[in-house]
Amino acid sequence: MTSTNEFIELSERRSAHNYHPLPIVIHEAQGAWVTDVEGKRFLDCLSGYSSLNFGHGNPKIIAAAQEQLSRLTLTSRAFFHDQFAAFAAGLGDLTGKDMVLPMNTGAEAVETAIKVARKWGYEVKGVTQDRANIIVMEDNFHGRTTTIVGFSTDPDARGGFGPYTPGFRIVKYGSVEAIREAIDEDTVAVLLEPIQGEAGVLVPPDGYLTQVRELCTERNILMIADEIQSGLGRTGDTFACDHEGVVPDVFVLGKALGGGVVPVSAIAADEDVLGVIRPGQHGSTFGGNPLACAVANAVIEMLGTGEYQARARELGAVMHERLRTLIGHGVVAVRGRGLWAGVDVDPSVATGREVSEALMSRGVLAKDTHGSTIRLAPPIVVSEEDLLWAVDQLADAIRELRERTA
Ligand SMILES: *Cc1c(COP(=O)(O)O)cnc(C)c1O
Repeated sequence: MTSTNEFIELSERRSAHNYHPLPIVIHEAQGAWVTDVEGKRFLDCLSGYSSLNFGHGNPKIIAAAQEQLSRLTLTSRAFFHDQFAAFAAGLGDLTGKDMVLPMNTGAEAVETAIKVARKWGYEVKGVTQDRANIIVMEDNFHGRTTTIVGFSTDPDARGGFGPYTPGFRIVKYGSVEAIREAIDEDTVAVLLEPIQGEAGVLVPPDGYLTQVRELCTERNILMIADEIQSGLGRTGDTFACDHEGVVPDVFVLGKALGGGVVPVSAIAADEDVLGVIRPGQHGSTFGGNPLACAVANAVIEMLGTGEYQARARELGAVMHERLRTLIGHGVVAVRGRGLWAGVDVDPSVATGREVSEALMSRGVLAKDTHGSTIRLAPPIVVSEEDLLWAVDQLADAIRELRERTA
């Protein structure tokens, strides 16, 4: 039998080292729990960066996938297929938008939004050709394509990959004034995450999204919300923008839209925006394929009942209450909304990596983001008991690390 260390060594030997995984080799999973190749169980508090909001092996999603898998998986968009209409209508209804455009990965959906915003700028707003600019935020994370990393402020994400695509202006996240100052007559869009996930689950000040919405409307600029990580139930609402009752011009979705089964992403917008794209101007061989649509349709149906959103809200309140008791005990700050938290561990106690490793040895899988922040985002199907147990493991792990440094 191959051991954990052998699997890791064999994986690392022939793979680019573009990740720094925790030393666990997962074999199977159900709900919020994963099992490694040695039979050890771990509570998944990362959920594939919120791709697994509905849990591993969710019965409804798996049933939809299996049914579709045995019948029809790919047609390309050269033809129609019988899952597409329900997908377009379902996602349109969920977002309240006229139209959707499906892609596969999150980065592709962001790229799609950028292309649509530029074209809208030239054709509808009347911006001079090739002059469009898009305002983006410091510490953003929108994916890994060459255009997207060009407007990242993370040196690891960006460094060494130039020359960079022009047409982006980076401003401070959370400041409406900074956006206002950056706007000129060529500005076509403001692209932001309603809560910045990779940056450490940074929640902007109250009223920020509302004010950005007002400013965009006033200046005839598209508000593009990247809800790839924040959307689809995670924050206790269908979309993080719902918290302020804000409706962006363009929703960018991904991750959980694929139910943890296949990559499914999309943008949703009204016809005056998305209508600028005509045949041949954008597409993807796999985008909107029958399997992707069948899975997404199950996800959209599950979100339609509101039960996952309510559960994330309720469990999130419990989780945040418990996490806040750790402040002053090796934790300096806790942020987030719904079943989503960024926990800043005192850097003098341990690095985020050390906390993640200590958590893993206690049966909890979580990953650090920048520096000493631990992100907690368990599947929404997690039981309250398991969730509180995980927070206890975090408390105990930090206590042990503090004793080590004391
Ligand atoms: C994960 C993520 C992306 C990129 O999605 P991929 O599927 O990895 O390309 C973009 N934006 C946000 C906010 C994300 O969390």
